[in-house]
Amino acid sequence: MSRKKTYLAKKVQNQIANRRMVQLFNLAEKTALSGELELADRYVDIARRISMRSKASIPKEFKRRFCKHCYKYLVPGLNSRIRVCRGKIIVYCEHCQKFTRIPIKNNRTDNQVFKKK
Ligand SMILES: [Zn+2]
Repeated sequence: MSRKKTYLAKKVQNQIANRRMVQLFNLAEKTALSGELELADRYVDIARRISMRSKASIPKEFKRRFCKHCYKYLVPGLNSRIRVCRGKIIVYCEHCQKFTRIPIKNNRTDNQVFKKK
């Protein structure tokens, strides 16, 4: 009985966490495009904390929006560079000067993330 209750509570917690992360990433996008990159980084930081605390993963479409090394919000052309080379998407962060390599698969769901933006 009590087990079922905790499971439901966790489900609700995950929904709340997801909603908050989506809101934060939307805010981060808005502020980054208006030029306030530090505020966008702060939103990413808060979203990551929510994800870690609630053990809910960051929504897939937002996972590539920030640097995996320094957690800065990435705006292609402004503080990051995106190239395609040898079947990989290479994201270069100009803040920490590191690369993230994402293999291109023939997976439908994986390529849709980049088609949307
Ligand atoms: Zn970085």
